Amino acid sequence: MSATALDLWGVTISKETADQIIEKAKQWALLHGVQMKPQHDHHSTCHCEYAPITLFPSPLPVPVLQEAKSLQKHYNLLMHRVANDPEFLCQCLKNVIKVDEFTKMLYDIYKETGGEKSTQKVSLGLFRNDYMMDVKDSCCTIKILPASLNLKQIEFNTIASSFAGLSSAMWNVHRYTMKQAGIKCSCDQLPENKPAHGLAVGFVKAWECYGNPDAVILFIVQSVERNSVDQRWLERFVHEINHNIHVVYSTLLNASEHCKLTKWNTLMLDGKEVAVIYYRDGYMPNHYPTNKEKDVRLLMEKSCAIKCPNVGLQLAGCKKVQQELAVPGVLEKFIKDIDVCDCIRKTFAGQYSLDRNEEGDRNVEMALAQPKKFVLKPQREGGGNNVYGEDIREFLSGIRDSEERNAYILMERIFPWPQKNYLLKEGKEPILRDVISELGIYGVYLGTAEEEFYNAEAGHVLRTKSTEDDEGGIVAGFATMDSPLLVYPPKLSS
Ligand code: ADP
Ligand code: MG
Repeated sequence: MSATALDLWGVTISKETADQIIEKAKQWALLHGVQMKPQHDHHSTCHCEYAPITLFPSPLPVPVLQEAKSLQKHYNLLMHRVANDPEFLCQCLKNVIKVDEFTKMLYDIYKETGGEKSTQKVSLGLFRNDYMMDVKDSCCTIKILPASLNLKQIEFNTIASSFAGLSSAMWNVHRYTMKQAGIKCSCDQLPENKPAHGLAVGFVKAWECYGNPDAVILFIVQSVERNSVDQRWLERFVHEINHNIHVVYSTLLNASEHCKLTKWNTLMLDGKEVAVIYYRDGYMPNHYPTNKEKDVRLLMEKSCAIKCPNVGLQLAGCKKVQQELAVPGVLEKFIKDIDVCDCIRKTFAGQYSLDRNEEGDRNVEMALAQPKKFVLKPQREGGGNNVYGEDIREFLSGIRDSEERNAYILMERIFPWPQKNYLLKEGKEPILRDVISELGIYGVYLGTAEEEFYNAEAGHVLRTKSTEDDEGGIVAGFATMDSPLLVYPPKLSS
């Protein structure tokens, strides 16, 4: 393994020093639970390696993090209200479900169990609001912190929001590597950050709200899961907050064989009553390979367990809903405070409908003319589904005359500020790269359509990838765990 010399904040780190810090960083990550199952061996229960990480934290202006955090409770409430508005969901998704079978399946479950029909009025949202810091309109170089970074939302995750666990130790890893490199940095610049604890508070509050001390929290997980340590982090903090709460794990398939509904709609798993269902599965079409998975999802939605999320909240996280929320005047339907609406809207990137109508036709032409300015997104979660740059031209040309267009939305491409860092990935040479980051803010919301029980911002995550990669998944092998190094931006000269 070898590293190249790096100039960082006035300190030159030689190749030899960088190599030593890299080795130590890996050990420190393992020690603190920044771990993942190996890429090609997710089956083994205890064989773990360090998760992909950056060697050093990435500078982020303090006001940017403050802005993102201050918006989170408003965003939580917004998405909770969207999920509790059947008319709005229907209007957003009516054209999508004509052509997108997966969204239709979820929508059918929602029609059968959601809104008025729901047996459990309380829902739990454990969210992650993802942003990139756009520098398109400001002049900057790789070395100089731009005076203005515009916080732009990439997506709002309402299901299986991951990395709250691993990010709960990243600040610790980076305090250590900065020290090793002899780079001055105060603890305030790498503040303690424990989103796994924040989300665990949500679980505990939901469990208390359900009201049976013998009932369990059920984590619905995949049989093959690279990121299982991240889930255990959540259980760890649930246990620390209240060790009387049992967390049990099951796949959808196992649940289909072992779950039953009582005549009062209580969900029982092998004789244990389920208070809260947490989905780390069920957000992709291939999570439902047979009718068994679909049937048990329906059964669980019918139950009076508190779902995280229920299917309405899952649908609220669709990219089509995000695009419709960006239509002028729509936010005001959900949030009365105009100033709050303005602050939220400021974080929206341009988003465009591709529905088969005149407006959609205009947007198709716009994308075909300048594809590099856009990202094309289907209604999918979990990475690897978007179309970027020149590929948009070919893809969109293929579907421009078909209803299939309705399944996609077009989003303005964000160009974040590039920086230099080493990306450490097991089995790969750590190379000094130009990298860009994506900031995620965690949020927790517990309540009914009418009443709020708990609403909180719960910490942050920074994920960083090479500028050469369009997609950003960590599990998929592109991005790495990072942490923000808080800095004050230079003053704008007047
Ligand atoms: P998914 O639900 O599959 O995670 P995302 O909307 O988060 O879908 O997109 C996946 C990745 O693609 C993001 O993490 C980001 O790296 C990149 N990406 C998405 N939208 C944009 C955008 N508007 N500009 C630049 N990159 C984007
Ligand atoms: Mg995403």
